[in-house]
Amino acid sequence: MGNRAKIKSLAAKFAPEFVEVRRHLHQYPELSFQEYNTCSFLKEQLLALGIMDIESVAGTGLLATINGREKGKTVLLRADIDALPIHEQNTIAYASTTDGVMHACGHDAHSASLLLCAKILMELKGDFQGSVKLLFQPAEELSPGGAISVIKEKAYTVLGSIPHIGQHVRPDIPVGKVGFRSGKFMASMDELFLTVKGKGGHAAMPEKIIDPVLIASHIIVAAQQLVSRVADPKIPSVLSFGKVIANGAINVIPNEVSIEGTFRTMDEDWRKTALEKLEKLVTTMAEAMGGSCELKINHGYPHLKNDSTLTENLRIQAKDYLGEENVEELDQWMAAEDFAYYTQHNPACFYMLGVGNTQENITSGLHTPTFNIDESALELGGGLMAWLALRTLSV
Ligand SMILES: [Zn+2]
Ligand SMILES: [Zn+2]
Repeated sequence: MGNRAKIKSLAAKFAPEFVEVRRHLHQYPELSFQEYNTCSFLKEQLLALGIMDIESVAGTGLLATINGREKGKTVLLRADIDALPIHEQNTIAYASTTDGVMHACGHDAHSASLLLCAKILMELKGDFQGSVKLLFQPAEELSPGGAISVIKEKAYTVLGSIPHIGQHVRPDIPVGKVGFRSGKFMASMDELFLTVKGKGGHAAMPEKIIDPVLIASHIIVAAQQLVSRVADPKIPSVLSFGKVIANGAINVIPNEVSIEGTFRTMDEDWRKTALEKLEKLVTTMAEAMGGSCELKINHGYPHLKNDSTLTENLRIQAKDYLGEENVEELDQWMAAEDFAYYTQHNPACFYMLGVGNTQENITSGLHTPTFNIDESALELGGGLMAWLALRTLSV
């Protein structure tokens, strides 16, 4: 397997350069749909690698193509590029220079790994048949997400049902390891906004008011029966309310209460049914208590389903690349990710790259102000992606 050794040595040789690339991206993070400088930086990097076939997608995204020595299959590799509205607390030389914005989900590492992968593939252009599409996707972190815009692009729709491969960092997986899961892997995500209306007044005279705080309390408790009594226990479902505002006082009952939360599951039919049932439950319950409740839903990403054939094949290839002991079987994960859109119509696989290191104290979770990665993961991230892409083209 000459290619594997070659890819490994190229990944090791080029990795230091892409640690710098990742640090640059980390220093200059940009929020979803605003990745203008990130996009031009990535384009310069691609051009410097000799990749000239670059199309702009979804405003601040890029779709680049590397063609092998002759025509053949096509595979798409995806990295997301946006940062989060979090103020970095790491004291590192390359900490974010923008107040309140941080690469706290590792999208800087995803972009740097995909560039490293691109550099390796350019070196191997004469050795493979087919094409590799490199997608640098904006706005993963903000619903409706960048993926849905990419999917509508002409440059994307002409691709047809080609395999899609995405990689995401995970600090709870030790550096040097990766994780896969076939089938349903991540959850759908809908944002819920409830406004419970009553009639406020003096807390000492309940007979003259309609108490929206009490109605809201009943709604929060009753809504849990959706996941405990109505949902099929074999389908993961989560209903969480993280924000409740009843802006009254010790002796003042407010006119209304707002509640915000999220519903997540892994079945599109149940998702639709659950949201319908939730709406019915909250409106009828509020009415029965003399008030009203309006439910607004911001529909987020669908659930993410990894194609079994592709995923099993990639798992075998990953074991071949980094050893059986370094490829983990993952649990289902109730986080959401807009890579899910690609999994709806294409054979797709989203796998996890370990970036944690307890000895170095690199353990902070995704979306936290102290999140960081063990940068030695970039060599594996870039090399493995190149290997998986070439093996997929040759199947
Ligand atoms: Zn994230
Ligand atoms: Zn992410």
